[in-house]
Amino acid sequence: MTRAYNFCAGPATLPEEVLKQARDEMLDWQGTGMSVMEMSHRSDEFVSIAKTAEQDLRDLAGVPDDYAVLFMQGGASSQFATVPLNLMAADATADYVNTGIWSKKAIAEARRFGNVNVVASSEDANFINVPDQSEWQCSPDAAYLHYTPNETIGGLEFDFVPETGSVPLVADYSSTMLSRPIDVSKFGLIYAGAQKNIGPSGLVVVIVRKDLLGNARKETPTMMNYQVMADNDSMYNTPSTYSWYLAGLVFKWLKAQGGVEAMGKINQRKAGKLYDFVDANDFYANPIEPRFRSWMNVPFTLADDALNGDFLKGADARGLLNLKGHRSVGGMRASIYNAMPEAGVDALIDYMAEFARERG
Ligand SMILES: *Cc1c(COP(=O)(O)O)cnc(C)c1O
Repeated sequence: MTRAYNFCAGPATLPEEVLKQARDEMLDWQGTGMSVMEMSHRSDEFVSIAKTAEQDLRDLAGVPDDYAVLFMQGGASSQFATVPLNLMAADATADYVNTGIWSKKAIAEARRFGNVNVVASSEDANFINVPDQSEWQCSPDAAYLHYTPNETIGGLEFDFVPETGSVPLVADYSSTMLSRPIDVSKFGLIYAGAQKNIGPSGLVVVIVRKDLLGNARKETPTMMNYQVMADNDSMYNTPSTYSWYLAGLVFKWLKAQGGVEAMGKINQRKAGKLYDFVDANDFYANPIEPRFRSWMNVPFTLADDALNGDFLKGADARGLLNLKGHRSVGGMRASIYNAMPEAGVDALIDYMAEFARERG
């Protein structure tokens, strides 16, 4: 068996140790004679798996006690609707920052539920930066302000947390959750689709300040009501049990690596060496203003687009997979989440150097 280095943006590579443990526990979880997949979600065994995962996430992210942690379904995209349904009255206004494709999707969905005020956008600059917060046109009475700390497709990451005073700050952390320390107490709500840094797709983790619960519109589907989810420990219906279990294994793995402090240092180093290489080599380019370059998703272009196909073919042959950039951006993209070992980044840089030497 050979494991490739998988640079896919999502679903993304998982820690090998986690996959091995899941394999070892697949048929018989800790002497129960059954797979986690086959367990009742109401069983003591699964409830302990679920509670342990929640506690480990709380420990890792430093989630204060006045926040609920929910394990929901429907991916991050379902939260684009769930957030306004729960946090915004029908006649209210919500503020959104537009920094790329995921922001735009969140904005488009929120518009179906109420007034959306786009307080700032870097679209005219081709999303290569984040507009300075001093220029944002915020609504005085916004229900919340939504932003996307890491634009997975553009490779743009905020290097600051917006200051919103008493307006709840809502963040789509899908592609940068647990990649570095954050101060959860600055947020009203954080959500993160699992398939980048947490586990399998479909699962979405929501961290919400408890005083924001209980305000869902009456037409909110039960399954999208945060209060119902919180009251039922995310088990109003059958949760995505196996994904929850795998997320729990990832949390344990992160703790064993030294937690998010340690991950942040490794991630900064991994991204730093890749950007340094791209900047130093005339054959490659990345358009993002350096201070806003993502630690998780590194898009880059080749000097000649006609070589893209050959570049990808050569990469595949070396077990460097899924480097093709998003169709809207073109070029290449290397997603280097927590689970991508530094050796994978080194192997990519070696290959890029060789390709530029031979074909540049
Ligand atoms: C991947 C991603 C999404 C969409 O996630 P789904 O689980 O596929 O709905 C939303 N926002 C960001 C920032 C993402 O990276």
